[in-house]
Amino acid sequence: MPVKPFASSADLAEKTETLEVLADGVYALTAEGDPNVGAVEGEDFVVAFEARATPVAAREWLGQLREHTDKPVRYLVLSHYHAVRVLGASAFDATAVVAHEQTRRLIAERGRQDWESEFGRMPRLFKDPGSIPGLTWPDVTFADRLTIDLGGDRGDLVLQHCGRGHTAGDIVAWLPQDRILFAGDLVEAQAALYTGDAFHRDWSTGTLDAVKALGAEALVGGRGAVARGRDAVDAAVEQTRGFLQTMLREVGDVHARGGSVAEAFQAAHAALVEDFGRWPIFEHCMPFDVARLWDELSGIDWPRIWTAQRDREVWDELQG
Ligand SMILES: [Zn+2]
Repeated sequence: MPVKPFASSADLAEKTETLEVLADGVYALTAEGDPNVGAVEGEDFVVAFEARATPVAAREWLGQLREHTDKPVRYLVLSHYHAVRVLGASAFDATAVVAHEQTRRLIAERGRQDWESEFGRMPRLFKDPGSIPGLTWPDVTFADRLTIDLGGDRGDLVLQHCGRGHTAGDIVAWLPQDRILFAGDLVEAQAALYTGDAFHRDWSTGTLDAVKALGAEALVGGRGAVARGRDAVDAAVEQTRGFLQTMLREVGDVHARGGSVAEAFQAAHAALVEDFGRWPIFEHCMPFDVARLWDELSGIDWPRIWTAQRDREVWDELQG
């Protein structure tokens, strides 16, 4: 069998980007499985959701947004700490960068290592990596909820932590008036899940329950197409939950009988490949996902830090 190239290091083909206007002043940019971004217009400002991997990549998104609005970006909201979503922040000239308090903690603890790890895993997303001025630091953090008044008759944008999930500090952005939800990596519509820094049990239960309970009519997940309509939104949430539950069952069984992490990888891969194998980053994610869940089942609550070196070791052990 040919050796699988490391993570997404061989994925060099440009993706087609689609800018969708979901409601008056509500924008989502999807890109065939690359990280999604979004923006919401206030009366005299813009709230941007996610920052992309570099300022140069972020400016390409801003160029498309600027065809619709020239309002300044007052808030840049980061759904979580992962490098491909935060390191482009300087391009927005935002008055305030907003994130969960655990996101700030994680950037301080492992931001540098995560930058190196993600650059190695998916170099294509790092357009002109030299344009990154350094780590991105949130100016405003919160624990449960933060509401932004959009002004005029535009209603509120509610930033909410739904529990531990894809990371310890994910937040979603919810527009109650339009019933549109930016879910970050807590929900993937048509993409595999990255769970290498996740809390599988919390995510698959209370956290996804809280996301679903919002009752969104349109959902922008972390990757993949926009889910439109309540049925499609619920299907995206349940598909995400199904991936996690399959991981928990397959890896859990091998763990409980005293098997090896390599056996757990084989079992989880076999159980998921039919439904998820054709989607972006499935092979990329699986070794890191299984390694993290194995730790979690072994009682390691706080995720271990991924470094460029540990990435390669786990990859060679499980995919090699
Ligand atoms: Zn992520």
